[in-house]
Amino acid sequence: MSTTMASPSLRAASATTTFVNALTIDVEDYFQVSAFAPHIDRDNWPAMECRIEQNVDRILAMLADANARATFFTLGWVAERYPALIQRIADCGHELASHGYSHQRATDQTPQEFRSDITLAKAIIEDIAGVEVRGYRAPSFSIGDANTWAFDAIAARDERGSSQVAVVRVEQLYPWPYGGVEAIVSSYPNADELVWLQEEPENMGAWNFVKGKLYEHYDDTHQITRISRYESGSPATASRLGRMLASRSIEGPRAAVASSPGWISTSRLIGV
Ligand SMILES: [Zn+2]
Repeated sequence: MSTTMASPSLRAASATTTFVNALTIDVEDYFQVSAFAPHIDRDNWPAMECRIEQNVDRILAMLADANARATFFTLGWVAERYPALIQRIADCGHELASHGYSHQRATDQTPQEFRSDITLAKAIIEDIAGVEVRGYRAPSFSIGDANTWAFDAIAARDERGSSQVAVVRVEQLYPWPYGGVEAIVSSYPNADELVWLQEEPENMGAWNFVKGKLYEHYDDTHQITRISRYESGSPATASRLGRMLASRSIEGPRAAVASSPGWISTSRLIGV
């Protein structure tokens, strides 16, 4: 913030502003940082000497001495292996947040991989600590102009408030990617509903084509439904789909196969 350009009224306002001092800590071990990524393969992580418990315990003691609270951005990989440590962080009154599962930069992931990563890490930490994980810090500051879809993915996931719904973008309609869709659907064995999402009205967009493809393969195993506007003479405007998704409750173990390629940003539909 520039102070030299501030008007007298802004300066007056800032004089009365209360600043919150926020302290955040990444819960990761030395061998997991991006600087070591070219030298230490993730497959070798389990064999590395882990110092995370003793180091975090030291930080917890210092914070307790100072009567201070912090946010701990924690790797899912760490949480999985040191659940008691995660519980201690929560028991000390600190906020638990996510640093992704295995310290993958957002820039190195596809939107789908990113969605899986943040969903997995969130679920692991929440299961252990019994608290809601609302925060996420991308490893190595890897969210920027090139991948703003990540913000939408996180927002969509949190808006739904459920990791029970998987949202997948279908990038290509013609020819229909049978193999790709099947790979996704079969990766959610508990899913019993496929929901096609499109912003266009029912009588427009890809629904009429796609439903045939879905019924062809999943009629016996899944309920096949659609979220879109009702029949209309005019196409929808962008951004409406987000509101439709937000207003419709999708609960339970289902997979939503989604989107018409073209106008819609991947981000709106991923990460629920
Ligand atoms: Zn980190």
